[in-house]
Amino acid sequence: MNREWNVNEIRKDFPIFQSREIIYLDNSATSQKPYQVLDAVTDFYRNYNANPLRGLYDLAQAATEKYESAREKVCRFIHAESADEIIFTRNATESLNLVAYSYGGMVLKPGDEILVSIMEHHSDMLPWRQVAEKTGAVVKYLECDRQGKITEEDLKNAITEHTRIVAVTQVSNVLGVKNDIRAFAKICHEKGAVLVADGAQSVPHMPVDVQDLDVDFLAFSGHKMLGPMGVGVLYGKKEHLKKMPPFLTGGEMIESVSRDGAVFAQPPYKFEAGTVNAGGAAGLAAAIDYLENIGFEQIQKQENLLTEILMEEIKKIPFVHVLGSENPLDHHGIVTFTLDGVHPHDVAAILDADHIAVRAGHHCAQPLMQQMGVMASTRASVMFYNTEEEVEKFILSLKEIRRKMGYAE
Ligand code: PLP
Repeated sequence: MNREWNVNEIRKDFPIFQSREIIYLDNSATSQKPYQVLDAVTDFYRNYNANPLRGLYDLAQAATEKYESAREKVCRFIHAESADEIIFTRNATESLNLVAYSYGGMVLKPGDEILVSIMEHHSDMLPWRQVAEKTGAVVKYLECDRQGKITEEDLKNAITEHTRIVAVTQVSNVLGVKNDIRAFAKICHEKGAVLVADGAQSVPHMPVDVQDLDVDFLAFSGHKMLGPMGVGVLYGKKEHLKKMPPFLTGGEMIESVSRDGAVFAQPPYKFEAGTVNAGGAAGLAAAIDYLENIGFEQIQKQENLLTEILMEEIKKIPFVHVLGSENPLDHHGIVTFTLDGVHPHDVAAILDADHIAVRAGHHCAQPLMQQMGVMASTRASVMFYNTEEEVEKFILSLKEIRRKMGYAE
């Protein structure tokens, strides 16, 4: 049963909105945290704290159960076939590095190709470049148009018989555009390549079903979906995870170690070396409960409404140019823009004076920015707990910026 929708009631769950005067429109960078998540983290350390996955005493087993139940929850949330396909990492960046070094390092040979979309966050671009350098593989780019669109045809034209890995984000952190991961996975599989999807900007905002998408790997971060910082997820199909070598080695990822060798544990433990972030995992489980309690239907309804207002109103402001599509529904809560004659850092600083938080800069996607012909831009990104009044205040403040900078209009 979904919770009754009332945005003002929902906002009471977020302590930061009581402790600070802020219009928080930097949700793509990180989301705010409801007290249910904060309490779940505290609860772990208050009542379950022992090193999970190793101790034999009662408390350690309780800690392990908490951690494993979080894994089960993530498994259900993204509809993985088995909890063994869920690896806890620090964040999406670490998840993507894990796939690149472990899977990429295992399969890539000189001359093989890795096809990376040009709109990828640096976290889904630099690991592939590093592994290409090590293996002699080549990184090629899957281009998008000015709207941010990559069609199935584009992928079919770019993929070759040498392509082993295709890396594409489900939602761009700059343009907000959504890629058709299901269709892309089909094309990749027909060519014998695997598809690695970056779900950092999609998983917090829409239902994601890894079996339905038939994606080989999916990476995302807990902190962008109401969870704590320091916990992320890599989903991988069991058939791949079983064959992959570990990324990090050390404690608790082995069956046995001798003077000269080691037998590694089965996935997911093979990929979780050292003491795990069980408090973070407990927080992430609470975040999933929170999102499910509201329901993605309502979440998307509110986020789409706010995006529509943003796009409609921003269009009316002279000298503002939105990157990507003109259709609000293509933006998934993310509106990135330039303002003629004003550096994005100044835009952000002036908005900050009105207690409005947005992101300014290259958004860790410099190749995309270069392709769009801009050095930097300003990004407003909404989450379901934002209100129409907040978006209206942002628009009013944005309208004043050029005048504040000394322009006549
Ligand atoms: N991928 C995308 C699309 C992102 O937007 C981000 C963060 O902004 C990341 C990856 C990296 O996430 P994290 O910094 O949590 O590892």
